[in-house]
Amino acid sequence: MVDYGIEYWGKDDFIIEDGQVKVNYKSKPALINIVKQVREEGYRGPLLVRFPHLMKKQVEKIFTSFENSIKEYHYKGKFKAVFPIKVNHYPNFILPLMENTTHRCYGLEAGSKSELIIAMAYTNDNAPITVNGFKDKEMISLGFIAAKMGHDITLTIEGLNELETIIEVAKTLGKPYPKIGLRIRLHSTGIGIWAKSGGINSKFGLTASELVEAISLLRKNDLLNKFTMIHFHIGSQISDISPLKKALREAGNIYAELRKMGAKNLNNVNIGGGLAVEYAQHENQQNRNYTLAEFSGDVVFTLKEIAKNKKEPEPNIFIESGRYVSASHAVLIAPVLELFSQDYDEKSLHLKDKNPPLVEELVDLYNTINERYAIEYLHDSLEHMESLLTLFDLGYIDLQDRSNTEVLVHLIIKKVIKTLKHKNHSDIIRIQEQVQERYLLNCSFFQSLPDYWGLEQKFPVIPLDRLNRRPTRSASLWDITCDSDGEVAFDKNAPLFLHDIDINQEEYFVGFFLVGAYQEVLGMRHNLFTHPTEFSVVFDEEEGGYKIENLLESQTILDVLEDLDYDTKEIERSLKQRLEDSKEISEDAKKEVLGQLYIMLSENGYLRTVFKNGGEKS
Ligand SMILES: *Cc1c(COP(=O)(O)O)cnc(C)c1O
Repeated sequence: MVDYGIEYWGKDDFIIEDGQVKVNYKSKPALINIVKQVREEGYRGPLLVRFPHLMKKQVEKIFTSFENSIKEYHYKGKFKAVFPIKVNHYPNFILPLMENTTHRCYGLEAGSKSELIIAMAYTNDNAPITVNGFKDKEMISLGFIAAKMGHDITLTIEGLNELETIIEVAKTLGKPYPKIGLRIRLHSTGIGIWAKSGGINSKFGLTASELVEAISLLRKNDLLNKFTMIHFHIGSQISDISPLKKALREAGNIYAELRKMGAKNLNNVNIGGGLAVEYAQHENQQNRNYTLAEFSGDVVFTLKEIAKNKKEPEPNIFIESGRYVSASHAVLIAPVLELFSQDYDEKSLHLKDKNPPLVEELVDLYNTINERYAIEYLHDSLEHMESLLTLFDLGYIDLQDRSNTEVLVHLIIKKVIKTLKHKNHSDIIRIQEQVQERYLLNCSFFQSLPDYWGLEQKFPVIPLDRLNRRPTRSASLWDITCDSDGEVAFDKNAPLFLHDIDINQEEYFVGFFLVGAYQEVLGMRHNLFTHPTEFSVVFDEEEGGYKIENLLESQTILDVLEDLDYDTKEIERSLKQRLEDSKEISEDAKKEVLGQLYIMLSENGYLRTVFKNGGEKS
């Protein structure tokens, strides 16, 4: 697996060339060079790199695919889309997304008051806003204000009480009214780990009898002409297209029936989100069984059939894809701080004049490893280690013997791997689980990959360079939180190999891809590690070169504490006072320590380590 499955997850967004991961756009810069450029400015710790051209690319793909399907089936409805803000609500995502899609009918979806404010401020002119989720009177009034500003806004009703509030607000605020949508409760459900948004027991939507009731309420209050959309959302990351088709048939028929009941302005079917992203890094582990073209074709075809059978006009199609639009735009880059076994070198071996016989055997194995018997020797040494550890527990060997055992076994593992490097890789694969290397990464999985922790969602991982060298170490990844869940464990069904490097001499960076959807917004400050330093790589469309923009440094320790509502002035005062009261150090030293403290408080909390030769790293 030297290409790390880039053809599956990278599509043609990223490529491997000259042993480096490169952005497959314009001047095709290597990620490692972008990283080095930013680090030269003194930024340390993990980096989140955004690529606005990939936001645009995904939106274009969706529009092109639906436009092609519409043409193919001579479909009469139009295609429109919105981005659900909850998937990535950061300004460095939302603003470039809107700037890059002005030529499309592409707006925003809001699910809370704060999101609605973002949508009202940043949705492009003539692009739609849809509002889902539970709403109170204030939020509904906000929707009316948006309509008065000239926004094309649809409030999607999740329950009859919301409709009653709309009727009430309409009386006080008057025209223009926002458009009204109804979220329908389907009996079809999605599948996969996120499939909780559909089905008869789902949290959202109106049942058939509530829909009938809603129509009569709308008619009675002279609002039926504002009812223009039905909406459903069967859950995120739809892996199989058949539940979607089933949901579409159900929704299409509801659309036609509601029109027959007199909802003559109902002309939009909003199919929600759920378009899946391919995260797989290995053959035969793909996350979805359909292409975008198949998806759009099925949607258009199904709605066309229903409209024809029921003799109703073909509705406009709305989509609210979040994951598919945003996942690929962001890459998390983590510097490797340490290889767990790196300290096990020959210098740490302190053999005695007389060693326990099994230790002597380990020495012998180490000195005589050859290609032919390498695996056998490795197994022998692992067995010897087990025996020696038991001897230690029983009190027969001392700590020095135990240390020599650990060092020797690590040396043997490394030598075996080196010996087999040019041979059949499957030999190494056979022993991979027993001899993993642990790579300590300067990042927090809780902050930057929360779905890995919460849902075991895998993200593609790849080192940024050395890709023309075969990686030999089966790897598990550790983050710097003090939590044993902060680990991406080695998985023999989806093995990860990394390079054997001397981290005291060389830098090594690992990239996690497709982290632009949900990860940033769900990330948590476990151990008070905050969001990484982030920036956008913006390409010059004519010249092809790129610029670093929107650089936002990771929060300082003081800022993090202030966000938690600590009184940071008091913290500073208290630290100073305690230092002044201390009798342990001289007055001069106190000043120096205080200076150091202040510098630390103004830096971010990620680790700053140095090369053994003194140069700064990580
Ligand atoms: C979350 C959500 C979406 C986005 O789903 P994706 O799987 O990210 O495309 C769309 N619509 C609604 C109503 C949602 O709640």
